Formats: sequence, C-alpha cells, structure tokens
Amino acid sequence: MSTHYDVVVVGSGPAGQKAAVQAAKAGKTVALLERDRLLGGACVHRGTIPSKTLRENALRVRSMRYNAALSNFQLAEDTELATLIDRLDMVLKAHDSYMQQQMSRNNIDLIHGRASFIDSHNLKIDRVRGESLYIDVDSVVIATGSFPRTPDNIPVDHEHILDSDSILSMLYLPSSLTVLGGGVIASEYASIFQALGVKVTMIDKYPRPLGFLDEDLTETFTQAFEKMGGVWKGNTTVEKVYWDGLTQVVTECEDGSVIKSEKMLCAAGRVANIKDLNIEKAGLSLNDRGLISVDAELKTQVPHIYAAGDVIGPPSLASASMEQGRRASCNALGIEIGQMSQMIPSGIYGIPELSAVGLSEQQAKQQYGEVTVGKACFSEIARGHISGVEEGMLKLVCDGDGKKLLGIMIAGEGATELIHIGQMALMSNADVDIFVESVFNFPTLAEAYRVAALAIIGQRSKNSEAY
Ligand SMILES: Cc1cc2nc3c(=O)[nH]c(=O)nc-3n(C[C@H](O)[C@H](O)[C@H](O)COP(=O)(O)OP(=O)(O)OC[C@H]3O[C@@H](n4cnc5c(N)ncnc54)[C@H](O)[C@@H]3O)c2cc1C
Repeated sequence: MSTHYDVVVVGSGPAGQKAAVQAAKAGKTVALLERDRLLGGACVHRGTIPSKTLRENALRVRSMRYNAALSNFQLAEDTELATLIDRLDMVLKAHDSYMQQQMSRNNIDLIHGRASFIDSHNLKIDRVRGESLYIDVDSVVIATGSFPRTPDNIPVDHEHILDSDSILSMLYLPSSLTVLGGGVIASEYASIFQALGVKVTMIDKYPRPLGFLDEDLTETFTQAFEKMGGVWKGNTTVEKVYWDGLTQVVTECEDGSVIKSEKMLCAAGRVANIKDLNIEKAGLSLNDRGLISVDAELKTQVPHIYAAGDVIGPPSLASASMEQGRRASCNALGIEIGQMSQMIPSGIYGIPELSAVGLSEQQAKQQYGEVTVGKACFSEIARGHISGVEEGMLKLVCDGDGKKLLGIMIAGEGATELIHIGQMALMSNADVDIFVESVFNFPTLAEAYRVAALAIIGQRSKNSEAY
C-alpha cells in the first residue's frame, strides 16, 4: 500500500530541511526522508559543525601561544581528537532536537530509511529493520548532498589515508599530516591542524590555495599558514600514495619529491550523492560533472522533480543550500519567489578566517578595466589591538571612479560575520561613501570599512573632486 504526499523531500541536510519546512508552511502534506539516524546531513555530522568545533579549540591553543610563557606550548603526543571536539556531542544533540521539534511543529512526517525511485511519482523507503514503505507524490525535492571524491591513485582506507568524512574519526592528533588539495575543506583542515601543532604539508596542482579568491586573501592565508610552520607545495602533481605498513603514509610527486607523514587527508572535491536513489527510474541522469542539472528555478529535466544543495554542485555551501531548498519548494508549488541573489558570500573558516563577496580585484579588472582599491589592516583599528586580532585586513574594490562598490574581501577573526555589512551595501548598490557617512560602533572591527573607504575616497579626490 502506498501513502500519498503533496511534497516529498529526500535528505535532511540544510537544503532538505528548508525545503520541507517551506512546503509545510504552504499547507501541503510533506514527508522528509532521511537514511541517517540523526537529522542534519553532512553539514551537521561530518562537515560544517564538527570542523568548526575543532577550529574553536585550535584557536584556543593558538591564543595560548600568544602568551610569552606558553609560546612553545605543545599538546601532548597522545592528545585524543575527541577531547578537541568535546562540545560536538552537545551541539549535535541540541541541533537534532531543535530539528525534530521544527518538523513536528510543521506536521512534517519524518521517515527514517533509504529512499529510491520506483518511477517519477513513486518512491520506496527501505527501513533499518528491513521493511519497506511506499509513497506516491506530486512533487519531489532531491537534497541528498554529496560525498568526498576519491582520485584513483589515492587509496583512502579511513585509517591512515582519510577523507573529509572520516578525518575526525582519528583517535589521536597525528604528529604530521599531508593534505591533498587546495580548496576550502583542504585549507580549513590544514590550517586548523597546523594551529594544533601538527606538522602539515598541503599539496595541490594549482599554484596557490583557494584560487577562486582574491590574490590578497590567498596570500594572507598562505603567509599565515607558513608562519605557523605549515608547508604549501603548489604546482605539484601527486603520482602515488601508499601506507608503508609501519608508521608513514608516503606521497610520491611527479617532480620526484617524496613526503612522509603519519596521516593523510584527501580533500579532492565532492560528488553528488545519488547512491541507491535510482534516479534513472525517475527519468533523471547525472550531467558530465557528476551532478544533477537544474534550471534557474531548481527544476530538473523532469518537471515535478526539483533538486537543491550539494547534489546540484557549487557553491556547495550550507548557506546557499538552505536558500536553494526553500526556493525549490516555492517553485514546485508555484509560489512567486523571484530570482535568487547571486551575491553569495564565501566563508572560509581557516586560521585565519577569510570571507569575500562580489568581485575580486582580478575579476573586477577583467570586467571594468580600471579599479580603485582601499585596504585597512586590523592593526590600524583600535578593536584589533584590544582583541589581539591585528593580523587581519579588509579590502574594498571599487570601479575606476572610486565610487561604485564591486567587491569586499576580509581576512582575520570575525571575517565571516563582518562581510555581511559589505554584502548589504553591495546588494543595495550603495557607493563606497556609505561607509564614511555611517556611524559605526567604536571600538569595532567594522571600523575597517571606514578606513578602507577613506583610502578609496582619498584616491578619488586626488584624481578629480575634493571630498
Ligand atoms: C568539512 C566540511 C566543512 C564544511 N564547512 C562549511 C561551512 O563552514 N559553511 C558552509 O556553508 N558549508 C560548509 N560545508 C558544506 C556543507 O556541509 C554542505 O554544502 C551542505 O551540507 C549541503 O547540504 P545538503 O542539504 O545539500 O546535503 P547534506 O548536508 O549532505 O545532506 C544530505 C542528506 O541526505 C541524506 N540522504 C542521501 N541519500 C539518501 C537517500 N537515498 N535516502 C534518504 N536520505 C538520503 C543523507 O543521509 C544526508 O543526511 C562544509 C562541508 C564539509 C565536508
């Protein structure tokens, strides 16, 4: 026997959760299908929240080292990783109970089990105890997320050679770690482990990490990483990786170099998770990038099936996934919602923290030719001194006239929060003057906006008008 729902959402990560709540709020009967025991998806259990919990402790260790008497402080060799993410259990349970309440408040049927398509309107759910449920639906939102990509030459065994799903299952903090990749996950974990005193080598085929960011930001990141003792090895292709059977993971590179470390993290991107979902039975297929293709309304090639979150690819952020999930349900139900803003900030929770929105200096030059740039170092800001976060910087990019704001980049503690001030200015098409004409709290790091804006206005007045 089959149960009917107006909307079925597969996956309870950020995309699925918001999709289900939005559909329920529109008065529809909704089922949320989740194969894991706990709700929340990769974001809560293997990604965002665990990595950020570890980061908090890495920051504590690093700030202890700022104290001269503790500058050589090292964590004990047998430090258990669990002690460094000790708050995680509490955070996860709190999140799960909040989500359970949200689902029941909105009358969403939460069904635990692995979903698969029978055809485009019918799904089967295999439950843990072996029984199967059948449902028929009007609309579906696929929000099944992603899982780590494993290159053929990297034998990930989840013991010595780990990926981003298994890295936090290590029992002890290793003495050394090779990180393959230069993307967000690689850079975050590399800098976090380095701050914890692990000897980290990052290897990537590209010349610099986080290549999609403004060069000033990646430069700040690389310098800070190397200052902590990390090694960045760009322009390097890995040929072979193996566990020597005793104590070391051996990485052989094409340039003849060999790196040995106790553990390895392979962070070579993520691919859509459609395992066992039988999307072909619904009339769907993956595109050549291994993702589910959607149009601007998040609709797949099958008109009543929508997809959101990591399963459709970049930006692959929890933040964007939530908004996509909400929009997928609105579009499926014909609720007018307009275009999704393309102004999505990047937040990289490395050490230092990095964030950017709008165009980088390099992108702005390509689009506008001439640009004007203003920078403020946190060391020039009273709050930077008071809080001991003098290493940061904020950069504004404007058009050649030094008026129209095009992009904002921030490195340093608080970057991912501070960016939203600039994001709002950018979204409302404000001139850079807004940062000078507004009164900000003092002392705050937000004052950096004012200092950087004044630097731009100073260049403008030199060229033409007096300010
Ligand atoms: C280490 C790491 C750090 C990150 N840090 C950040 C960050 O700081 N900020 C940020 O914005 N993003 C971050 N991300 C990215 C973020 O986690 C993802 O973008 C986000 O989780 C994607 O959400 P989603 O809903 O698409 O999928 P997911 O969160 O992956 O959820 C998918 C859910 O679908 C379920 N599922 C899959 N198949 C089935 C099936 N057949 N039947 C039933 N259920 C199924 C899965 O069990 C899972 O619960 C990070 C990711 C990683 C790996």
